Amino acid sequence: MKLTFCGAAGEVTGSCTLVETERTRVLIDCGMFQGGSSSYVRNLAEFPFDPKTIDAVILTHAHVDHTGRVPRLVAQGFSGRIFSTHPTRLFSRLMWEDTAHVMKDDARRYKRPPLYVMKDVGPTFELTHGVDYHTQVKISDDISFTLRDAGHIFGSAFVEMQVGGIKTVFSGDLGNDYVPILKPTERMIDGDVVVMESTYGDRVHEDPKTRIEKLKTAVKETIARKGTLMIPAFSLERTQEILYELNFLVENGSVPQVPIFLDSPLAIKALQIYHQFPEYYDREAKALADAGDDFFKFPGLRVTKNPEESREILEVPPPKVIIAGSGMMHGGRIMHHLVDYLNNKRNTVLVVGYQSAGTLGRAIFEGAKKVHIDHQEILVRAQVEAIGAYSAHADRLKLAKWVTSGLSKPSKVYLNHGEPHAAEYLADAIRTHHDLDAVVPRYGEIFSHG
Ligand SMILES: [Zn+2]
Repeated sequence: MKLTFCGAAGEVTGSCTLVETERTRVLIDCGMFQGGSSSYVRNLAEFPFDPKTIDAVILTHAHVDHTGRVPRLVAQGFSGRIFSTHPTRLFSRLMWEDTAHVMKDDARRYKRPPLYVMKDVGPTFELTHGVDYHTQVKISDDISFTLRDAGHIFGSAFVEMQVGGIKTVFSGDLGNDYVPILKPTERMIDGDVVVMESTYGDRVHEDPKTRIEKLKTAVKETIARKGTLMIPAFSLERTQEILYELNFLVENGSVPQVPIFLDSPLAIKALQIYHQFPEYYDREAKALADAGDDFFKFPGLRVTKNPEESREILEVPPPKVIIAGSGMMHGGRIMHHLVDYLNNKRNTVLVVGYQSAGTLGRAIFEGAKKVHIDHQEILVRAQVEAIGAYSAHADRLKLAKWVTSGLSKPSKVYLNHGEPHAAEYLADAIRTHHDLDAVVPRYGEIFSHG
């Protein structure tokens, strides 16, 4: 077996790992590079393999940094099967359509070619196959795989693979504990070679149970200041988790009822996919759904579907809450809200997700006093708060526990999907405490086993 790291090596985006035997070539994820000025160029660069020679792609989950280059792969000749869970399959189509749309605008604005266009999405979706968790799928005589629940976002999976007799596990992104709606991360059954993410390899999260209390405080304090609370959130999962908890807070009278805008077309479309797969809900969400409570609907919630409605939010007097993408504040409807509200100390930006290096979100999170949005200089006077416990990723303790949860100890662990400090810190920790052979691969690096 040969492993080639074609993305997310020493960074958190662009996930793409090539697994090959003498007869078969499979990609685990094929995501976009995000953040920083070079990501556009890197996404547009040639793949370090010939797309026509790839037999199959397995998508661990629908986040763009894991799926975003798949339509380009197809446009360049890939014609094999694309496997994922059923929700991931449907979410991916939404993400591809949304990205094609955004890239079309960017192409016009910056006079540069898009990575792919809308007409590439249909042929890509035709190659997708939904797979149930815990069902073995045979790709070829020498490669088969099983998906298990990663607890990261709805429908997320880690991949247990048999590659020419070598038990190989790809973690995809592993979830945090006690995430609303999601079932917990499953333990690994058995892996001799493990490729594991390391996003928070150097950190221990706040207790996830504090999350809802902190959300409550942020809502109440902003309301008391008669301000606007902006929650930049990923359209997939984070937005639905926030809605789930706001539903709880509003329906129990824990926060005053004010207008809450769900200003994310993608998140609105994604809600339908949640409704379609109640068997993926955890026990609490399932019980609510069975009792007829739609936890994505509550008094005060307003859904803004088109850009005109989004702009009209400005005319609604505060206090109010706006949930909008993108999660890292590098595009989407959150941008015009930041222009409108960042400059006033009554308002709050509540950071509820990972902010990748080079993004506007990272700059605001790290305390920038002024930022540039669409060539305008904006002073950051609003309160900036963060709830680390909302992370969708496992922390150092959970990653270490998961990688040792199999029946036997892995002989090799590759740590990808982490910035260098996080990945190296985790490598060091699991070498020291668990006696594991852990390495942090570099981009393009190739490793052979067996
Ligand atoms: Zn992810």
